[in-house]
Amino acid sequence: MRSFALIIDGKRVETAQRAEVRNPADGAIAGFMPLATPADLDAAVAAAAAAFPAWAATPDAERQALCGKVADIIEAHAEELAQLLTLEQGKPLNGLGSRFELSGAVAWTRATAAITLPVEILQDTPEGRVELHRKPIGVVGSITPWNWPVMIACWHLIPAIRAGNTVVSKPSSLTPLSTIRMVELMNEVLPPGVMNVVTGEGGLGGALAGHAGVGKVVFTGSTPVGKKVMAAAAGTLKRLTLELGGNDAGIVLPGTDPAAIAEGLFWGAFINNGQTCAALKRLYVHESVHDAVCEALVAYAAKIPVGDGRLESSVLGPVQNEKQLALVRELVEDAKAQGGKVLLGGDPGNGPGYFYPVTLISNVDNGVRLVDEEQFGPVLPIIKYASVEEVIGRANASPFGLGGSVWSSDIEAAKTVAKRLECGSVWINKHGAIQPNAPFGGVKQSGVGVEFGVEGLKEFTTIQTLLV
Ligand code: NAD
Repeated sequence: MRSFALIIDGKRVETAQRAEVRNPADGAIAGFMPLATPADLDAAVAAAAAAFPAWAATPDAERQALCGKVADIIEAHAEELAQLLTLEQGKPLNGLGSRFELSGAVAWTRATAAITLPVEILQDTPEGRVELHRKPIGVVGSITPWNWPVMIACWHLIPAIRAGNTVVSKPSSLTPLSTIRMVELMNEVLPPGVMNVVTGEGGLGGALAGHAGVGKVVFTGSTPVGKKVMAAAAGTLKRLTLELGGNDAGIVLPGTDPAAIAEGLFWGAFINNGQTCAALKRLYVHESVHDAVCEALVAYAAKIPVGDGRLESSVLGPVQNEKQLALVRELVEDAKAQGGKVLLGGDPGNGPGYFYPVTLISNVDNGVRLVDEEQFGPVLPIIKYASVEEVIGRANASPFGLGGSVWSSDIEAAKTVAKRLECGSVWINKHGAIQPNAPFGGVKQSGVGVEFGVEGLKEFTTIQTLLV
């Protein structure tokens, strides 16, 4: 079994203590995570701070070329990283699984490498010249979740270094190994200290978020932990990007062809077993098409092979961890008790691993926990509605505001409804289809700031206004 070490200042740093990382498909040990001490964290921040001046002063074209080389080295090791990702995360190698995630990581890295932030001339008149410059912030702390660990790490790390910052990455302790290995590979092309990684338990993320040497924190995870990160960052007024939880609503308008949308609805909800921030988490269907949409979804979902992610035949894998599985079970049982009708699944077996069947539940409404809370697992509540005007209010009745979708053959009607949804991204006839040139972020308690594209890159800079 490969040994994993912290990467600090371009070097592997072995720790005295390590923790087991387990494969959610069978509970077998996937590897051992190094447990960083507070001194290791200090060393990583110090290495990043020491590397910052030279990296910030590196000509932009050179930094751009090095980000391109980072993409190349990830691509060259994509299969190795995909195997490791499946081993610790559980997602299948195929379908929208690990190989897909690695191809996304490479695509986002290349797209971010290509963006430039030239000086903007705001005024150039006899009275004076005003220039807007973008400067890197310093050391960026990145804290990532367990659902899309490799791709989300690239969403943090690449814009940070592209803009001239240096980084300390702290992956989830449930899925740390693929990020450690990826950072190790990045260090084959980047100068020492530009990209560091620490892993551990017992408050390491909080310590990074509060560290006096860190100038910005980019955090992707749950809303409650995001609030803690915000509080920890307040001590030194760190810049923040927070990509947090969601409870995305989808609305199917009357007159929509169920057969045409079933596949899109399914993958909008069940990509990565529903363990996706901007997955479709509650589906509102007009009463005129409700039964037909339910039937089409059941027919599509029943054919999806669920199994150990290492099997080439699996299209969905296990839930990633025990806590998440327990929440899914709890929400489904509660929905059943509230009169929910199980159309598919709903009954986990007793086999090894954190498997839960693809589950569709109708006859539920706002006020049932499965509708009101983020389930983050392979279960979708389907809610019948009668009035479009009234369902918009129900969709917006959430503290979250990450994504949303409207499904209709009438695009203009769909756009009218879409613009009234309180969310950072809204899709028509698809859900969760993110892309590197489209800013992505949440409103309300789904986050602060955006990622991707020019707007996302700007979040890793401060503005300096130069007035001549
Ligand atoms: P989580 O909040 O439990 O953990 C996220 C990260 O924070 C992990 O690395 C964890 O170790 C670390 N952490 C834990 N306590 C901390 C603290 N006090 N201070 C600093 N860091 C701390 O989230 P999770 O369970 O890993 O991920 C699932 C959640 O993430 C879901 O709510 C999902 O919607 C959200 N998410 C959001 C996006 C988005 O872009 N908006 C993307 C993916 C996941």
